[in-house]
Amino acid sequence: MERIVVKVGNVALGSGGRCLVQTMCNTPTQNISESLGQCTKLSAAGAEIIRLTTQGKKEVEALGIIKKKLLEKGILTPLVADVHFSSEVAVAAAKVADKVRINPGNFAKDHQRAVKEFSALTALCRDLGKPLRIGINHGSLGEEITSKYGDTSWGMKEAAMEWIDMASASGFDQLVISLKSSNVLVMVSAYRMLYEEFVKRGRCYPLHLGITEAGNSDTGRIKSAVGIASLLKDGIGDTIRMSLTEDPFNEIAPASFIADYFYNDLNAKGLSFRTDNTGKRIGSKHYECKNWEEFILSVSCDFGPLLLDREIDDVDISAQIHDCSGQNNLENFRTDLLQASRRVFSKPEYIACPGCGRTLFNLEQVFEEVKRRTSHFKGYKIAVMGCIVNGPGEMADADYGYVGEGKNRVSIYRGKEIVFRGIPEQEAIDKLLSLIGEDARNKDVLPNSL
Ligand code: SF4
Repeated sequence: MERIVVKVGNVALGSGGRCLVQTMCNTPTQNISESLGQCTKLSAAGAEIIRLTTQGKKEVEALGIIKKKLLEKGILTPLVADVHFSSEVAVAAAKVADKVRINPGNFAKDHQRAVKEFSALTALCRDLGKPLRIGINHGSLGEEITSKYGDTSWGMKEAAMEWIDMASASGFDQLVISLKSSNVLVMVSAYRMLYEEFVKRGRCYPLHLGITEAGNSDTGRIKSAVGIASLLKDGIGDTIRMSLTEDPFNEIAPASFIADYFYNDLNAKGLSFRTDNTGKRIGSKHYECKNWEEFILSVSCDFGPLLLDREIDDVDISAQIHDCSGQNNLENFRTDLLQASRRVFSKPEYIACPGCGRTLFNLEQVFEEVKRRTSHFKGYKIAVMGCIVNGPGEMADADYGYVGEGKNRVSIYRGKEIVFRGIPEQEAIDKLLSLIGEDARNKDVLPNSL
């Protein structure tokens, strides 16, 4: 099979070897000193590619200055411009950034315009020697695709193939593809279908893997590890991002751990299996780990794919963790792993974006507060999203959503419907709680997830 190698600044994707680790700044790109500081810190921590949000031409200009200042400091880490809703901005960004990420679901108003403007963009990128990422998100598939395939893994794969074919028609192959979803099963099956199509056609493009809106803390890490590991174990994936609703610095160590785990062929070693007297297939292993994070990532990489693919039904894990605060709980971890692998749902499912330069409130703090106050709504899908531009689309199938709408304003959603628009931030969590509580009392408005 032909493997397309894509050069992104000083690194190459698709040439085999260890997966590259990437992340995204959550600073406003126009704030040059803050963004420069964050890029410097992320690069020192091991980020091999860094993305910045570029809503408009001012952010593109700022990205150019950040890049120049990084180079002056001897930092060569490639910078990627993240573009939504403007092919014009994508064209401007291609002249400055090492790679441009576009989202086909919002690249242009209609299909005809998308074809024309994408062809102009690929022609420019070919001349400049710049690659593009076709970044498909489950929550923001275009109307054309959802009307034909629904918002399914199949639709995600078809959308990717459509844009790959458009690029091929203009003789452009410097593409990286991602098919992200906050649902691990949807994400894994979309990449597998796309990879099968690549094999069928005999041409494989580099794949960027990640679970989008994975949330934070243990659950965000476990969910991301299960999704990414399910693909890496099959040899699918060239670069990974662990999207956490935390400081992006915190994404680097767990993503690097996963990349190394598979590169050093440490996964799925020393596992044993048995069937219990109820017929359940149980996977077990004793772990010796440096710390809790290493432990949860190792187990998620080993057993997450087996749970997701229904090869086992449960796990029986023991561990010696050398540096452990003692507050971590194996049983709690087991329930998180079963939920991330979509086998047993015993808690609410949270969808939270990592935040970026578009976020105008303290997303991490709000998300923690929403989690604390909604923890009893077992089986509900509750989203906390940083902006109104991409948030409502990206939270896809959430039952309820808290979406930032400018400074100190929030909108509260029930599914795709706005119930409270632009309310003050101080009232927003109470309103969300009262809406969920009222719906729970009114049997006619039960959320889809239940
Ligand atoms: S949804 Fe979150 S990560 Fe996505 S653009 Fe908005 S603030 Fe940024």
